Amino acid sequence: MTSPELTGPATLGRLALARGTVDRVTRRRTDKDWIDAAWKDPRTRVLVVREGQALVRDDGLVFVSPEEAPAGTRFLLGEDAGGVVYFGVSGPLGAAADGVRVASLREVGALLPDRDAGLLTHAVALANWHDTHVRCPLDGTPTVPDAAGHSAVCPADGSEHFPRTDPAVIMLVTDPEDRCLLARNAAWPGRRVSILAGFVEPGESAEQAVIREVAEETGITVTNVRYVGSQPWPMPRSLMLGFRADAPAGQAITVDHEELAEARWWSRAGLLAALESRELALPPSVSIARHIIEAWYGGPLPSTWTPPR
Ligand SMILES: [Zn+2]
Repeated sequence: MTSPELTGPATLGRLALARGTVDRVTRRRTDKDWIDAAWKDPRTRVLVVREGQALVRDDGLVFVSPEEAPAGTRFLLGEDAGGVVYFGVSGPLGAAADGVRVASLREVGALLPDRDAGLLTHAVALANWHDTHVRCPLDGTPTVPDAAGHSAVCPADGSEHFPRTDPAVIMLVTDPEDRCLLARNAAWPGRRVSILAGFVEPGESAEQAVIREVAEETGITVTNVRYVGSQPWPMPRSLMLGFRADAPAGQAITVDHEELAEARWWSRAGLLAALESRELALPPSVSIARHIIEAWYGGPLPSTWTPPR
């Protein structure tokens, strides 16, 4: 069982990528003797990730032993209650045996058990950072991983660099009739709609970003912005901050066609009918968007849109 503090906020149910049962053992990251002993321990499990993908079985992730692990950047993921230590390696996945397949975090994030969802989310986030931040931003010298893969150091000037996470806001806006604003992104396939989202800009609060993004994308001015929960979305490096906001009466939607193909208000009955007739599809249950929409609706909604890899 997962302890309550590791689960998502009650209002949104359990968010797929905000789960986990493995202690990150932050204090061990600089304990070289402990790290070396853990890497030699045959009980240690290594999760190999490449480009956001890993090997999975029907019942969870496929791990290898340290001696089976490929060469590649290595990072400490944590230690479970039984004393088993988990590492990640960014490297080639190896051959998929019978019953094993290559899958992305997006595909299996909602299907994995708690321990594995947490490990894969952590590993993909770190691997994405290592794979794209290989040089010192100050002088271009190749950096060296430090703190068991949770930082990188420039050997030329000694500067220390930490994994990047980009905050993004995602918000469900309702009108005075409690209808919700759903939009179709111009880049999305077919009938899929979702709530609005955007990145927090430098020097901006999350609440300011909600107000700005809704106004830019739809021309709607929102009030009463309130936080509802978050989950990491390391594709490649976002943290999704979920909000609700109110749209006072008397406003017309003006769609920014650079970003959106369409946007409109949906009542609960209207949305349900459109989903049942397959006129619309919602984001998958791995996303925080789906949870925020279903929390507004008051229960699960029928939609089986399959995400691309
Ligand atoms: Zn440097």
